[in-house]
Amino acid sequence: MEAVLRFAHNNSVYLERVLALAGQAAAARHDEPNGIYYRLTFPRERFSDLFAALEYAKNWESTTLEVEGRVLNARQLREVVACPRAGLKAEDPRAYCRGGWPGRLFPCRAIRVDESDEHGWFRFGRLEGEVFIVDKEKIARTIRLQLAEGHYDLCPLLRPEEIESVLSELPATIDPRRDPGWDYRHDWVKGRLVPVGVQKTTATGAKAKNAEGTPRLPAQPREGRRRYVPEVTYAEIGGLKEQLNLIRETVELPLRHPEVFQHLGITPNRGVLLWGPPGTGKTLIAKAVANQCRAHLAIVRGPEVKSKWHGQSESNLREIFDEARENAPAIILFDEIDALVPNRDTLNHDVNVSIVSQLLTLMDGIEERGQVVIIGTTNRPEAIDPAFRRPGRFDLEIEIGLPDDAALREILAIHTARMPLAEDVCLDRLVPHLRGLTGADVAALCKEAALVCLRERLRFERDDLVLQGTLEEMKVSALHFERALQTLQARREGPAANLRLRSLKSTTNRR
Ligand code: ATP
Repeated sequence: MEAVLRFAHNNSVYLERVLALAGQAAAARHDEPNGIYYRLTFPRERFSDLFAALEYAKNWESTTLEVEGRVLNARQLREVVACPRAGLKAEDPRAYCRGGWPGRLFPCRAIRVDESDEHGWFRFGRLEGEVFIVDKEKIARTIRLQLAEGHYDLCPLLRPEEIESVLSELPATIDPRRDPGWDYRHDWVKGRLVPVGVQKTTATGAKAKNAEGTPRLPAQPREGRRRYVPEVTYAEIGGLKEQLNLIRETVELPLRHPEVFQHLGITPNRGVLLWGPPGTGKTLIAKAVANQCRAHLAIVRGPEVKSKWHGQSESNLREIFDEARENAPAIILFDEIDALVPNRDTLNHDVNVSIVSQLLTLMDGIEERGQVVIIGTTNRPEAIDPAFRRPGRFDLEIEIGLPDDAALREILAIHTARMPLAEDVCLDRLVPHLRGLTGADVAALCKEAALVCLRERLRFERDDLVLQGTLEEMKVSALHFERALQTLQARREGPAANLRLRSLKSTTNRR
């Protein structure tokens, strides 16, 4: 492994020092069309010099670091050097890397494969008959990914050979019938509790048991109690075909067919970030996907989780994840996630760092089988903490923008499908008047048109409400839509409300 540090010539008093650390100043200087640049190459065994150089160079705007096809800019470098710097300065760097936690197995705090129940190395593998085969290859791959994700593989303190040696000492197979330290791990599959892996027994060597003396088993999904599966279907979403396909691939596939990912040896995405203006259908999409997968949907509104009591918000979050796990397959929808975990770089004074780290921990703790997926929605992706936008968290960001003409036509058709429309209503002719509106605006317009129609026939009498004419005669006409548009225009004061009203009447019925 080799890293290339590149930066523009500058007036910093530290320039000479950085060049000296690389020890190749003359050869590294390049005259490029937009100025003089330096390219300094550091092999893996000289990464401590690289990090010493980065201490200065990370503050120069032009600085980039390229390692195995990854290019990090100055801002990313400032994040990357934080952990190694603390380790290098620590009295006992080895203890620092272990994070002072006895359950840590590998000598780096960025590796989240350990001896714990949740992230245990013994979760990687498969049962063959009664014997569990440990998948060391997969453990190694996961560790490589975890290190590359935060660029911890650049750390001068990292000792790949030690990771290799810990891996080689792990057992290749586990047989809970013979080894008293191990027990079978059960889970619910299609309504039946079956062995799916292995787990450690308690410290005393006794098998994990509950108060009644029976083995501790996962909670059965609470069908019909707290489980919420929305009734929205894909047919109720207008436009957004490409976005929907992406979401189906990322969320629906792992929830419905986790075995495909197991077969391919890849981890399904844990989260998807949907971003775009309010009212464009982000929540609607989450509901439709949950319905299609018959998955439990937990809708969490960012501001609602926050509590003024110390630690309460974090405990609320843990409960939400526990409930999702119990009701798996499940989707957790964090609406307005930027309100919960705002970007710390944007001088936002409302940031609660422990909520940010709690949510990161919970997301990282989601099991690999992809039975719980997180969907976050926001109007501005840059407003959320950047840690959530790294691979392994919100792996995919999808823009849900304003609908175009074709989508507006579909949304109109959806929201008028069950309405008795008069002959003179032509949806195609309505579309140009709706440009700049969201799906929620179109839904509101259709409802308002129906209400205009209703009000026309409604008479308030002293003791009663009287509807004139028969229900069959009651039809929503082009004039009703025209009036509804005027009402909507009056309600909205922004430029998008600049709807050019012409007569919407049409002599033919072209629905
Ligand atoms: P917010 O950011 O405010 O939460 P959102 O993007 O999640 O907004 P939704 O709550 O999904 O928007 O949309 C509100 C309503 O608008 C939906 O219940 C639906 O009636 C209508 N709507 C929005 N987009 C569409 C669409 N593409 N197709 C059909 N109806 C839509």
